[in-house]
Amino acid sequence: MNAPEDIRCQVCDSHDCPPLIAKDGWQYRRCTGCGLVFLSPMLNADELAALYANPDSGGTRAYFRKETSKLRRARGRVRHLTKAMTGGKNSTNGRLFLDVGCSGGFMTQAAMAAGFTTWGIDPDGDAVAHAEEHYPGATYRVGGLTEFAAEFASQTKDRFDAVYCSEVLEHVADANAFIGAIASVMAEGGVLYLTTPDIGHWRRPKNLPDWDVFTPPHHCLFFSIGNLTRLMARHGLEIQHRQWAFKPGLKVLARKVGQKTGV
Ligand SMILES: [Zn+2]
Repeated sequence: MNAPEDIRCQVCDSHDCPPLIAKDGWQYRRCTGCGLVFLSPMLNADELAALYANPDSGGTRAYFRKETSKLRRARGRVRHLTKAMTGGKNSTNGRLFLDVGCSGGFMTQAAMAAGFTTWGIDPDGDAVAHAEEHYPGATYRVGGLTEFAAEFASQTKDRFDAVYCSEVLEHVADANAFIGAIASVMAEGGVLYLTTPDIGHWRRPKNLPDWDVFTPPHHCLFFSIGNLTRLMARHGLEIQHRQWAFKPGLKVLARKVGQKTGV
């Protein structure tokens, strides 16, 4: 028999996380301290790998069909990140850009076009192959972020001035390892643009299973602005701007402030 699971909130460490809701046999808990909603029991590394081993099940082909609009949006977001970078007055020359969850390479293409030295990483090998074929010039890696970050940080003193991470955080099992890995490869003063579903949004369907992004087990973690701010602060990242969103999503710009604020 397995030992009882240690129920603990990843953001505030509270053990007071009663069951909230179940869907298709998957159970979610909600932290009474900070409101984080999380899959419980959480997926382990093998289960996560199996989940993403077959990318077609995740709608990869449909994703590529929206290429034109995705490229347009990517260019806008790169401009947003570039403006937020400190020093150099929007100069991207020699600056390093990392796209975490780069998929087919739309954002890496926009970052390259803006003048960044660009890296992209994604666990989906087919998507990265698409990126390498259609948007060459960036450095692509297939795999997980935490392994990549550990290797990158040990091999070079270079750090990323701008990091983009859209709709990935809700897929990870360990938010601290993930955000910590991002922070570890960011330059002091570097900026991170991150998006994830917003469970605290005024337009989120009241009945959680009616929410289109409430899709167990792919989405393991559901944040709101308060606990996302707190999670980032644990890793020395300060949210400086929250973009207004009509859809129930969080779109934030954070800066690496260097020291962990210990919350
Ligand atoms: Zn909590």
